[in-house]
Amino acid sequence: MHETRIGRLLARMEELGLDALLINSLPNVFYLSAFTGTNASLLITPRARWFITDFRYHERFAAEARGGWQLHDSAAGLARCIGGLCVPAARLGFEAEQTSVAARERLAACGCELVPTRNLVEELRAVKDSGEIETIRRAVALGEQVFGELLPCIRGGAMEREVAAEIEYRARRLGATECSFKPIIASGRRSAQPHAGFTEQRIQPGQPLTIDMGVVLAGYCSDMTRTVFPGDCPARWRELYAIVLEAKRRGFAASRAGDSGAAADGAAREYITERGYAENFGHGLGHGVGIQIHEAPRLVWTEKRLLAAGNVVSCEPGIYLPGEGGIRIEDMTLVTEDGPQNLNSLSDELMVV
Ligand code: ZN
Ligand code: ZN
Repeated sequence: MHETRIGRLLARMEELGLDALLINSLPNVFYLSAFTGTNASLLITPRARWFITDFRYHERFAAEARGGWQLHDSAAGLARCIGGLCVPAARLGFEAEQTSVAARERLAACGCELVPTRNLVEELRAVKDSGEIETIRRAVALGEQVFGELLPCIRGGAMEREVAAEIEYRARRLGATECSFKPIIASGRRSAQPHAGFTEQRIQPGQPLTIDMGVVLAGYCSDMTRTVFPGDCPARWRELYAIVLEAKRRGFAASRAGDSGAAADGAAREYITERGYAENFGHGLGHGVGIQIHEAPRLVWTEKRLLAAGNVVSCEPGIYLPGEGGIRIEDMTLVTEDGPQNLNSLSDELMVV
């Protein structure tokens, strides 16, 4: 599995005329080696695969690393390590999006010709293999299990912060390593903010409550949103909920291999626009989900690239009314040759809890 990924990367390096490639991004390091520590760089050449890390991680490297990597201690500094491992003036690719200006300056001392690269590993990561899809399915199921356990504390009129704490506690207790992001618990008017975080506000009956949460299982994220109504749902919110739900179904159906991310976004957006809420859906329809909570591909009006079988993306339209509140519904979609598949099994119908 890791061999296959490294093989694909070597083919891309050859196309770009690179003698060596430096990978610094930890999600990319995990993808290529299964290593979960917080300091590591990979140096890949057609003939050697070096894993550069410090003393703290030598044992973890031995326990976790897959893909035929050879350990190289980083005590001398990254540039000097690379200088010693590469032939002088080699064309060395580095991850431009992941490298600070200061790190780029330090790297110059290695004596190689530095060639910026963009998204080489991220593009590979966008197409999940069967093992990754299986892990994501398990993460999604675990996230839904956590959500199911929340309902009693919502009914009890808890604070947003307490609901967030329940999510974090229950996720770990049920087997997640952590949450894939800080949960969003937005009640009442605060639900008009797409990324509201959580506060000390108490959950109010008869007003929308948006819960956006995910877990990490075996290195892979889940992501799900439900807007629920504690106690009661007034007619106006029922109407808005029905619009968001129909937009979600259209966006899901349009998440097809061979169509663009913009087309999927457009299918949901067109419906929300028709119903008069164009100004109230200001974010994209979705994003790739995998080792990172937000990754390629994107379902947004600017995304011209085509979806491919193996992409895992969210589908999360919303309508946000400033000063009143908002509704978002989010599931995860697997793009397949035979059309989109919903990875979630929890109902997306309106829930009065
Ligand atoms: Zn989400
Ligand atoms: Zn999302």
